[in-house]
Amino acid sequence: MNTYATATTVEDFRHHLQDVHTRIDAACRRAGRDPATVRLLPVTKTVSEARLRNAYAAGVHTMGENKVQEAHRKWQAMGDLPGLKWAIIGHLQTNKVKDVAEFAAEFQALDNLRVAEALDRRLQARGRALDVLVQVNTSHEEQKYGLAPDAVEAFVKQLPAFSSLRVRGLMTLALFSPDPARVRPCFVKLRALREQLRQTAPDGIDMDELSMGMSGDFELAIEEGATIVRVGQAIFGARKTPDSYYWPGTAPDSPADAAS
Ligand SMILES: *Cc1c(COP(=O)(O)O)cnc(C)c1O
Repeated sequence: MNTYATATTVEDFRHHLQDVHTRIDAACRRAGRDPATVRLLPVTKTVSEARLRNAYAAGVHTMGENKVQEAHRKWQAMGDLPGLKWAIIGHLQTNKVKDVAEFAAEFQALDNLRVAEALDRRLQARGRALDVLVQVNTSHEEQKYGLAPDAVEAFVKQLPAFSSLRVRGLMTLALFSPDPARVRPCFVKLRALREQLRQTAPDGIDMDELSMGMSGDFELAIEEGATIVRVGQAIFGARKTPDSYYWPGTAPDSPADAAS
């Protein structure tokens, strides 16, 4: 188990958000970056509706969820909260595409053309558009979702065909390790790939966003250029659900659980 403290009240959430923002600002200072160029995406998976209402009151107005079903259920339950948006950050199966097209504001884990095609069709039918990021496997772990880095250029060239998808950049999950020397290269790789794609990506494909970094490694990610950090446990508290539930192949007691 890790040591992330659980937030329940509005006051708890204010403190935890303040702490995370302070750490984001410090990482930006070290890297000579403007903190306004880094967006904090709170990740709300496993957190109950009652607690999420308090998080909303403390200023969390976009919620990141890994599983579509859980996100959809929460979206329906919290439809009374003005301006609340949902970001899907986990792998999507084609049979869940319909739900995402219905309620999500962004989808950060695009990694295959079948999903792109199905999503675009559903979005067209609703007259909606969706911000998407292409997920890249920068850690070379076979179990992880995401495209191999050398497959991304050809993939991105196909995306203008799907006019409801607004491609904004890239997303990755780094290697789970407490050793920064093993984690940092994943972030460096995503940024390098983004620079390369800026030269080759077709018109209309934007490569500004780099979604990388979580509770255990977001400061490293910011030093390497992250524009979106996806942070769950450092805001909401330790999760009981093991990481292996979300990321196939992750050991139940992965180093990510031990990081603080
Ligand atoms: C759960 C999750 C996160 C956040 O992880 P924490 O350890 O809670 O900060 C980030 N990205 C993805 C894709 C996730 O599923």
